Amino acid sequence: MSYLAGLNLDDVPADRLVPFNHRAVGDRVLVSNDLGDHVFLAPGEFRAFVTGQVAADTDLYGKLAAANLFAASIDVGKQAERWRRKKQYLFVGPTLHAFVLTHRCNHGCQYCHSSIVGMTRTDTDMPIDVAERAVDLAFQTTSPSLTIEFQGGEPLANWEVLQHIVEYARQKNALAGKNLSFALVTNLSLMDEERLDYLLDRKVQLCTSLDGPADLHNKVRIYKEGDSHDLVMKWMARINERYVEMGLDPNLYRVEALPTITRHALARPKDVVDQYVALGCRAVFLRKLDPFGFAARTAGTLGYSMDEFLTFYQEAVDYIIELNRRGVQVMERHAGIMLSKILNDDEPNYLDLRTPGGAVTGQLGYAPDGGVYSSDEGRFVAAMGDEMFRIGTVTDTYHQIVTNAQTRALVMAGLNDGQPDCVTCVYKPWCGQQVEYNYKTQGSIHGRMRDSVWCRKHKTIFDYLMGKLAKANAEDLAMFQRWTTNRTLDHFMQERGAL
Ligand code: SF4
Repeated sequence: MSYLAGLNLDDVPADRLVPFNHRAVGDRVLVSNDLGDHVFLAPGEFRAFVTGQVAADTDLYGKLAAANLFAASIDVGKQAERWRRKKQYLFVGPTLHAFVLTHRCNHGCQYCHSSIVGMTRTDTDMPIDVAERAVDLAFQTTSPSLTIEFQGGEPLANWEVLQHIVEYARQKNALAGKNLSFALVTNLSLMDEERLDYLLDRKVQLCTSLDGPADLHNKVRIYKEGDSHDLVMKWMARINERYVEMGLDPNLYRVEALPTITRHALARPKDVVDQYVALGCRAVFLRKLDPFGFAARTAGTLGYSMDEFLTFYQEAVDYIIELNRRGVQVMERHAGIMLSKILNDDEPNYLDLRTPGGAVTGQLGYAPDGGVYSSDEGRFVAAMGDEMFRIGTVTDTYHQIVTNAQTRALVMAGLNDGQPDCVTCVYKPWCGQQVEYNYKTQGSIHGRMRDSVWCRKHKTIFDYLMGKLAKANAEDLAMFQRWTTNRTLDHFMQERGAL
């Protein structure tokens, strides 16, 4: 960069500085170290820092020292503790356990990641013996927390096994004493009052898909037996009403809904955000189409370039910022996760933005046939006929699953410190890898970040947020800080030892 033009490396007092990376953000230089301390500097200040020309009695020196950028002023013990806190997920096994209860589904969503089949194909349901073995395996995780997430197909289609897993896991937990929770990802079309009573009674967290206003949603979420959007709206309202009747805070306890952005939505960022605001949602999670499943096969009609998505994303978040300035409390969840890492030194353990990535060490996926996969995405790859991420079966022991050679290769490939471009990237302390995405888009679990759309997405969003932070006034900073608020939903935790 021009602000380092003519720099003689002999002038850099490398032994006095900690390892750092830098990047131009607008007219400032962003500097970060491996722990995520960071500062914005004017180009002249950056050059003075790099060449050791910052006098010890200046404000600039104090700012750089506070950001742990001088080796002499580092409190090693304190920083080691901090590293340990932020890497807590490395000291325990996977927390998220995704159970594919069936491949059956009554929707034909054009971007579906799973290999869905018609509703008569009960042979694709997870049988009870496989379900019990999968629960047994999940309970072997060394993590004190365990979330069993029901997925499909449409998991409500295998209702008896869903109930059996809940009861069986609760029984096991009477002895195990883990922080046990359940989540259900459903299109809500098979919901009824009786099922809802059970799910609410057993504190199963509910999550659905909502792609925006009716025309956007119904265009891709094809449901021949009714109006998918109507159904989602009806059940979301009903479930939220029940949460209120149960005395739960409506600001915290709501059905979680997620949009998937298709080509049809690209020109309508405000419509998507407005749909969520109209429902009283405090967060929108703007997700790009994945390269898996039907989405890969329908890319010609639904797909778009990463640049098109990023334009959409920035327009949507600009609009969300505008709404906040008008007093509407809504945030974008991906931005919220990044900001909580950047502003609060937190590690929210979002599996796509951590190193190593979430494969095996953060999650496991269980298929109806008993196959165990590195993640949900691993079984999406399997649904496309490639068993690359099948790391065992439910008859294996936990030890076999988490220590086999395949698992170790996936974990190693998911390290930012093993990626040539990441090691010199200013965003490395807050970023992460997904080996399944690398494999699907670039043919190798290691990927090549220079050409990677994964990297492009994260780097562009970090650039966007850092650009906002560099110019933020007190009001903006308070707004971004609000977006990082992440209150735990204690209600969804099973009572320990209770039956
Ligand atoms: S994936 Fe890209 S943005 Fe993320 S740390 Fe690596 S090089 Fe940086």
